[in-house]
Amino acid sequence: MPYYVYLCCSKIRLMKIESTMEGFNEEMENDHFSAAEDTPLRKDAFDLSDEEKIDKIQSNVKEILSVLGMDLQDDSLSGTPKRVAKMFVKEIFGGLNPDKKPKSSTFDNKYKYGEMLVEKNITLYSTCEHHLLPIVGVAHVAYISKGTVVGLSKMNRIVDYFAKRPQVQERLNIQIVRELQEVLGTKDVACVIDAKHLCVNSRGIRDIQSSTVTAEYGGKFKEDATRSEFLDYINLDTNF
Ligand SMILES: [Zn+2]
Repeated sequence: MPYYVYLCCSKIRLMKIESTMEGFNEEMENDHFSAAEDTPLRKDAFDLSDEEKIDKIQSNVKEILSVLGMDLQDDSLSGTPKRVAKMFVKEIFGGLNPDKKPKSSTFDNKYKYGEMLVEKNITLYSTCEHHLLPIVGVAHVAYISKGTVVGLSKMNRIVDYFAKRPQVQERLNIQIVRELQEVLGTKDVACVIDAKHLCVNSRGIRDIQSSTVTAEYGGKFKEDATRSEFLDYINLDTNF
């Protein structure tokens, strides 16, 4: 049975591995994999309230700093465990909670605009789930309306919602496209993400220059002409 494996961080190839997974984990220490399009959440992920989560995480962050030998009585550090816990739950991993998903209000395409709509250079801040270090970049999203449209900022909000999770760039890319396909009722959605992974830029291989590009094309965007048009738009050098 073949495994389809996504490599993140320093490689973005989609590999088909026919062999067993034996001995694989060791090789994957830096080039990790994720086989699912859905964020791997447990069923009990939301049994605890945000406040209960913050309490638990706070004491665990305290433990980490303490094991490292940091003096938590120091003024500069005493508030860190709570600060980090709140940041995890309320901010950078706030997109794990389905209650925070942007409401999917759509509008009729009154103008009968039937061409491609591109929202480019959407700022993206996410977190690599293998190192818990930032992923920083831009997302370019496009769709061709089948009768409904969404507000432009909705695309930014959808990108931001799925980015606020421990993530793998390929999965983030797919989740954004799937959500927009559902909201818009069309397969004709595309997303390209270009992002720097601090786990590559600031540690390990420490390559500050490299960035990772991933793409997901649905429906008409799988056709060469449509895809080229989209890529031409995102390559336009827009100066305001
Ligand atoms: Zn990483």
